[in-house]
Amino acid sequence: MSKNHIELGQELGIFVIPNESGSGLPLFKPNGFIIREELMKLMREVNTKAGYQEVWTPHLFKIDLWKISGHLKKYKDRMFIVGKGNERYALKPMNCPGHCLLYKSEIRSYRDLPIRFSEFGTVYRNEQSGELLGLLRVRSITQDDGHVFLREDQIEEEVNSLLKNAIEILSLFSLKDFKIKLSTRPDQYIGSIRLWDRATKALKNCLDRNKLEYEIKEKEGAFYGPKIDIDAKDSLGRYWQCTTIQLDFNLPRRFKLTYISSDGKPEVPVMIHRAILGSLERFIGIMLEHYQGKLPFWCAPEQVRVLPISEKFIDYAKQVKEKLSQFRVALDDSNATLDKKIFNATKAKVPYIVIVGKKEMESKTITVRERDGKQLSDIKIEEFLEILKRKAALRD
Ligand SMILES: [Zn+2]
Repeated sequence: MSKNHIELGQELGIFVIPNESGSGLPLFKPNGFIIREELMKLMREVNTKAGYQEVWTPHLFKIDLWKISGHLKKYKDRMFIVGKGNERYALKPMNCPGHCLLYKSEIRSYRDLPIRFSEFGTVYRNEQSGELLGLLRVRSITQDDGHVFLREDQIEEEVNSLLKNAIEILSLFSLKDFKIKLSTRPDQYIGSIRLWDRATKALKNCLDRNKLEYEIKEKEGAFYGPKIDIDAKDSLGRYWQCTTIQLDFNLPRRFKLTYISSDGKPEVPVMIHRAILGSLERFIGIMLEHYQGKLPFWCAPEQVRVLPISEKFIDYAKQVKEKLSQFRVALDDSNATLDKKIFNATKAKVPYIVIVGKKEMESKTITVRERDGKQLSDIKIEEFLEILKRKAALRD
């Protein structure tokens, strides 16, 4: 019987949503924080390789900014607005306007593009309370957000590498079956038909080049540009929307963003909004259900638990723990029976249980029990350390 992420999150100490905090506002416990950090580490590596520069922008901006961006008009019901009179501010429901301001803070040449900003920006959206569900639908959302400012002729190349990255990353979580959707120009749109057609063709080309099957959602694009969405299938056969690659012909105009073209004239760049995991909160919810709490070694909050058979072996167990200390290792030095200790570690879904007793202490070895029940006996600590290092490096 599978459990949902709320039960799993509670059992494994990942997050809480107390009544006092307000619905849709989860608090991450230390174990949940570790998972968030590991996901961010992964995305930072991917982003750096793809040429992103990480930035930070405030959690709120004055109301005028949201007038420029158009959010106040289109999105007001879902924004948290604070302050009074002329001193009004809104918590950011999206990171894009901040990134537009960063783009605008310098003169940009056609040679500088694409310019890519990434941010693990927490945004706040006043979702209806009936729509809120554990981590899957929250009001404080930390996206693995990124915005690319580029020339029209760069769209295909950029989206192509974005798609590749997205598929590669989702596959890392053994999310391997995808439903890909390409949404095209709706009846209400801004920008020229020529730009829409060229951009949509570029997106199609990328999907075809990567031999990806996709469904065309005619006229379901946003008014400001076509997009590609990737839904991934989890271990229970359900599809979750993760990656979004959204082209935007609107925001750069609203913010009067330009770059100097090769013939010295100001041109308006195209903008791409993208998130690969989607939001950390939602993705952690998906992961918990998909793995049923048995998170991969690299992002498991507790990676190894050392169990001395009795208190006579606590010192040796401490030495073992010390030698593995580059990983997240815990020691169960309680006076529970070994069976009970194993039961507890299994319940906590720790990937590796290390058992040490007389035999191990004398031969300076350990016995390792994997989560699937496989056992490695008489293994040297250094040898085990190498196995762990390899697994961590490969995010296996
Ligand atoms: Zn955006």
